[in-house]
Amino acid sequence: MTCHQCGRPMVPKRHKAPEGHVRHYGHGLCSRCYQRATYTPRPPKPRTPRATPRQDSVIDDVHTLRLRTNDPEVIAAALGISPAGVAEALRRAGRPDLARPFWQAQWRLRRTA
Ligand SMILES: [Zn+2]
Repeated sequence: MTCHQCGRPMVPKRHKAPEGHVRHYGHGLCSRCYQRATYTPRPPKPRTPRATPRQDSVIDDVHTLRLRTNDPEVIAAALGISPAGVAEALRRAGRPDLARPFWQAQWRLRRTA
């Protein structure tokens, strides 16, 4: 059995691949080719909103959600927008004091992305 893509000899999954062999991964492809074939760029998380929510409603929602959680990532996810989106909406709505934890959450997300 050889890989459809790169033609290298393959051994079944969970077998130790001898020198010059690769392990079968799926669909007749070795793990490297399979991952290359099925690779899709990770979607941004959380998803970017289609429309920007109204600013005053963001403040209301953040207030409501903060009664339940202090985690800005959870709040942003519940609103369906990124932490940066929440922060920007709060800043534009004249509440930059509320925006700070969301900027920090966004930086955290970027660092771990
Ligand atoms: Zn291959």
